[in-house]
Amino acid sequence: MDSSGDSPDVPDAVVVGSGPNGLAAAVLLARAGLAVDLHETAAELGGGARSARLFDADVVHDVCSAVHPMAVASPFFQGFDLAAHGVELCRPEVAYGHPVDERRTGLAYADLDRTCARLGADGERWRRLMGPLVEHTAEIVDLLLGDLRRPPRPSIAALLVPRILALGTGVDEVLFRGPEAPALLAGVAAHPMGPLPSLVGGGTALLLGHLAHAGGWPVPRGGTQVLTDALAADFVAHGGRVHTSSRVTDLREFTKTRAVLLDVSPRGLLELAGPFAPPGYRRALENVRYGPGAAKVDFLVSEPIPWREPELAKAATVHIGGTAAQVRASENTVAGGRRAEEPYVLLAQPMAADPSRGLPHKQPIWAYAHVPNGDPLDATDVVRRRIERFAPGFSDTILASRAIPAAELESYNANYVGGDISGAAVTLRQLLARPVVRWNPHTTPLRGVYLCSSATPPGPGVHGMAGLHAAKTALRREFGLALPAGW
Ligand SMILES: Cc1cc2nc3c(=O)[nH]c(=O)nc-3n(C[C@H](O)[C@H](O)[C@H](O)COP(=O)(O)OP(=O)(O)OC[C@H]3O[C@@H](n4cnc5c(N)ncnc54)[C@H](O)[C@@H]3O)c2cc1C
Repeated sequence: MDSSGDSPDVPDAVVVGSGPNGLAAAVLLARAGLAVDLHETAAELGGGARSARLFDADVVHDVCSAVHPMAVASPFFQGFDLAAHGVELCRPEVAYGHPVDERRTGLAYADLDRTCARLGADGERWRRLMGPLVEHTAEIVDLLLGDLRRPPRPSIAALLVPRILALGTGVDEVLFRGPEAPALLAGVAAHPMGPLPSLVGGGTALLLGHLAHAGGWPVPRGGTQVLTDALAADFVAHGGRVHTSSRVTDLREFTKTRAVLLDVSPRGLLELAGPFAPPGYRRALENVRYGPGAAKVDFLVSEPIPWREPELAKAATVHIGGTAAQVRASENTVAGGRRAEEPYVLLAQPMAADPSRGLPHKQPIWAYAHVPNGDPLDATDVVRRRIERFAPGFSDTILASRAIPAAELESYNANYVGGDISGAAVTLRQLLARPVVRWNPHTTPLRGVYLCSSATPPGPGVHGMAGLHAAKTALRREFGLALPAGW
C-alpha cells in the first residue's frame, strides 16, 4: 500500500512503525494539521494488530492481539470513537474463564453479580475486591493507562494500593476459600509474563480483572485487523502518507523533518539512534531487559472446543494454568529461563462472541504458551495437550495448525525481541523507567526524536496510549500545538 496526499516532499513529522501506538500517533499528528509520513517494514500495516486467513478463505485468525479490554477503556480509542468508524466490538457473556482442574472452573462473567453468584462463598469477597474498582473505572484507567508520571489521587490510591499489595504478595489466596477466585486472578496476573506474585502482576490483575466487569473483554467483529484498518483510513483521510515495505534503517533520512516518532523496541531505537545518542543513553538502552517469550499456535478446528465445563464455550478468552499455585510455579520457571512442563497458555476462541470469524465446521482457535525468551520450541503439541486436559476430544477436532516459536516472532515483527511481546520486560523498574530513567520517557536525547511504542508507558496492549503520550509531547515541543479536539 502506498498513498500520497497533497503533502510536501519533506513532511512535518514521520512515524516509523504502524502498530497501534504508531498509528495512534500518526492519526493525532495528522488530525492536528501536520503533514505526516508513516513507514512500516511489513507489507501490511498493524504490527501487533493484524488478522489473516491463515488456513482457509472462510476463517479469520488474529496473528497477534485478539482480545481488547484495553481498546474499550483507552482514552485514545474513546476519543477516536471506534463505533463511528464502523468497528463493532463483540462482548462475550464470559469475559474470561479458567479451568482449575477436572472438576472446577473459574468464570469471570461480564456481569459482576453473576460472577459473584457463581463463586458461591467467595462471591462477596470478589465483589469487595472488584466492585469499587468498577465504580471508579474511569479514574483507574486514567491512572494506569496514563504516562505513569502523575501520583494517583488519594481516594484512588486508597482503592488501589492495598489491593495491589494483597495480590502482589500472594495474600489474596488466603482471603478466598475456594480455588476458583485465586486462579482467576493469577491467570490475569500472568498476562505480562514474569515472576509471580509481583506488584506488576497484581496491578495487571486489577486493571484487566475489573475491566471484565466494566467495558468487558471484547473481540472486534471481523478480527483485530478492523482496528488497524479504521486507524489507517482515518490517517489517510487526514492527509497522511503511508509507506509499507519500508524499513527505516537510518535516521539521517529525516534530518529535515521536525518530529520523528519511533514505534520501535529499545533495541530498534539503539540501532536507529545509537550512533548519534550520548553514551549514557546508549548504555541504558543496552541494559534494557526483555521478558519471556510467546510461543504462538493457531488451530483450525471442526467444531467448538469440547470443554468439560460447558460455560467455557461462552468465553472468548480462556486461561489454562491450573490452580493459582500452578500458574505461579510455571511463570516463575519460565521467568528463570527454563521451560515449564505445563506452561501457562492464553487461548482465544473468538467465535464465542463473533460468529463471523468462520463457519460452524471451520473455526479459528488462537493460543500462545509462555516460554523462555528466544525459545525455538514449536509449542503445537504442548498447547494441544494443555487444552485436551480440560476438553477431552479436542485433538480430534483439529483440521490444521501453525506454530510460530518465540525465537521466530521477531522475524515477523522486529519489536518482539526473543518473542517478548511487551516491547521490554514488564517489571516494576521497567514500568516506572520505561525504557530508561527519564522524566519524559517518550523523549530521547536526540532533537525531534520521540519513542512511542509499548516500550514506553503505559506498556503493552492495544490501547494506543503510548502513541498518544508521545504525540502530545511532540506536538507541544516541536510545533507549539495541543492534541486535536476530542482528546
Ligand atoms: C501473540 C500476541 C498476542 C497478543 N495478544 C494481545 C491481546 O489479546 N490484547 C492486547 O491488548 N494486546 C495483545 N498483544 C500485545 C499487543 O499486540 C502489543 O502490545 C501492541 O501491538 C504494541 O503496539 P506497538 O504499536 O507498540 O508495537 P507493535 O504492534 O509491535 O508494532 C510495531 C511496528 O513497527 C514496525 N517497525 C519496527 N521497526 C521498524 C523500522 N525500523 N522501520 C519500519 N517499521 C518498523 C514493525 O514491523 C511493527 O509493525 C499481543 C501480542 C502478541 C505478539
